[in-house]
Amino acid sequence: MTSWQRRAKHCPLCASPLALGAIEGRERLGCSACAFVLYENPASASAAVVLDERRRVLLVRRAIEPFRGSWALPAGYQEIDEPPEAAAVREVREECGVEVEVIALLDLLFVPEDLRKSANLAVYLCRPVGGVLAAGEDALGSGPGTWVTEVTGHMGDTSR
Ligand SMILES: [Zn+2]
Repeated sequence: MTSWQRRAKHCPLCASPLALGAIEGRERLGCSACAFVLYENPASASAAVVLDERRRVLLVRRAIEPFRGSWALPAGYQEIDEPPEAAAVREVREECGVEVEVIALLDLLFVPEDLRKSANLAVYLCRPVGGVLAAGEDALGSGPGTWVTEVTGHMGDTSR
């Protein structure tokens, strides 16, 4: 994983070259001209486990990289001013057209192996309260999200 922070060349504040150096006990990129330090932090994302009254789970098939074609929970990154619960609700609406309400926080997962950037993923248990299942722009055009009762194989297996 090489985050954009590792590949950055210039200070976003003054445009001077960035240089690797020991800063606060760790190798970091810092500006050669001003005090700016490019800290690398995990992204914040939310995912939804949407259970309906028949105890089916809502899954989406990814239409974009990474993991194109893989089944996934509706999920995405938080906006800067968005609480994590609201991000989960928004992602389900955008990806599936389903309105949900959050019931509980199931877990907070650290995902270090994401190809883009490591992330803290807040996983919420949700239930549908409205809307119509439809494909969003992140989901494959061939079909909407799908309610499943059982998942076989690995979630990242695209051969199924
Ligand atoms: Zn600078």
